[in-house]
Parts: sequence; structure tokens; C-alpha cells
Amino acid sequence: MLKCDFANLQREVALLEQSGATVLHLDVMDGNFVPNLSYGAMVIESLRSTTRLPFDAHLMIADPERYLDDYLQAGCELITVHIEAVPDPRRVLRRIREAGAGAGLALNPGTPVAAITDYLGECDLVLVMSVQPGFGGQKFQPVALEKLRELRRRLPPETLLSVDGGIGPGTIAATAAAGADLFVAGSAIFDTSDYHQSLRELRRLAEGAAHSAPSH
Ligand code: ZN
Repeated sequence: MLKCDFANLQREVALLEQSGATVLHLDVMDGNFVPNLSYGAMVIESLRSTTRLPFDAHLMIADPERYLDDYLQAGCELITVHIEAVPDPRRVLRRIREAGAGAGLALNPGTPVAAITDYLGECDLVLVMSVQPGFGGQKFQPVALEKLRELRRRLPPETLLSVDGGIGPGTIAATAAAGADLFVAGSAIFDTSDYHQSLRELRRLAEGAAHSAPSH
């Protein structure tokens, strides 16, 4: 939810739900950890009553621990923080889980998988950024595929492996084959006139690639 029509947010959410989206990925930016500013817990909370879709808050903010309660209270089922933004990842991830939400850890394209391996046991979701965070509409960076493969090998099957940035018809199959099982799509949906058709095509490509990939 970064490339959507913000003047009609409720309609966009309803349209996504009707079109078969399974999770709403909410990109929170603070103009500090990333240069841009998007929306925060207040907007997310106001959307909560409009849909039954689970909320996946991707906090691209400095010191996310300070604002954690706001996002928990806003009704986010999943909260993802950046390894680059938390001095004590274990504590933050545990706090999210203790509050009853799913804990996610994200890493930027320039951050190696080794930076998060100590914390994988505290994660319900790991988010591989395939673009520099902070802007919609960027080109997919193939370095993400190697990370997905390594993480899929290391993670228990129940931990979600998500990929964010430049996901569309040309890239989704490769990420699915590399082990991703949650795909964040922005432009590939919002820049099209038929969300249902776009989602169906993305799902078809991802499922086809996942089935042909060697099992993990
Ligand atoms: Zn995101």
C-alpha cells in the first residue's frame, strides 16, 4: 500500500480484498530511516475496521521499538522491523510475539544474511528487500534471489519468507523458485486497471514456479 490511490483508500482496500489479495502490506516510512514519508499507525488503525485481511506492517522507521505499541494497538497481525534499525533485534521480536502478533525481520539489499541468522528463531516472517527501501516503483535487484535461497534453507517451513520490491510478472516466478512464499506487489497491481486479473496472473506465475522448484 504505497502505490495505491490514497484519496480512495477504503475503496482500494475493498478492491484488493475482492480481487483475492491475502495480506495487506503496509509500508510505513518516517523520512529518517528512509528519505520518504508515508503513513503511520493512525491511518492503519482507521483502515482496520474496513477489511478482514491481515495487516503486515513494514516499519521502515528509525527506532521502531519506540512506536511498537502504536502498531500493535492499530491491529497489525504482523509487524516487521529492519535489522538495520534495531540495536537489540531479539528484544523487539520477542515484544511483538508476546503481544500476540507475528514478528518479522527485514534486511536491505546491502545487508548480508549473516546479519540476521542469530535471530531467525524469533521470527514468524523474514522479509528480503529486493530494492532499496523507501520508494515504490524500483527495479528488482537479483541479489535478493541468493538471499532467498539461503534463508529458505535455514528457516523452518512455517516461517514466512517474504520479498518486497520490484515484484511483478517478470520477477515473481524467480522469487518463488528461490523459496519466497509471500510476495509484496505494488506497481504490478496498482498500475493496472484490473486488480483481479493482475493478482490472478501473479499467483499463477508464483504457484507454477514454486511447484517446479526443488522442495526445501
Ligand atoms: Zn514493504
